[in-house]
Amino acid sequence: MAAYRLGDDLDDYCTKCKRVTNHSIVSLVHDQPAKMRCRACYNDHDYRRCEIPPSKKELKKQALFNEVLATVKPAEGEETAAEPEPKEKKPRKGRASNDG
Ligand SMILES: [Zn+2]
Repeated sequence: MAAYRLGDDLDDYCTKCKRVTNHSIVSLVHDQPAKMRCRACYNDHDYRRCEIPPSKKELKKQALFNEVLATVKPAEGEETAAEPEPKEKKPRKGRASNDG
């Protein structure tokens, strides 16, 4: 496993360019990239492992979705009293297991 070194080139998502660009490692923590510098705009930011953050649109979409989920309730109201289940005694006929 190759260790990262300061100044190494690494692809990462740039928050300014809003896309994955070439980056240089400017800070390492436990041999893992911590801070990156975009080679296109020289913006420094935390290493994102190329993860693209959800856009505002996506976040809004997610919020709406959660709202819908929250409003959806089971169709049955709780006002109708639960009917007690009639207890029926089922006569036992025969035996399930045959010993012999
Ligand atoms: Zn950039």
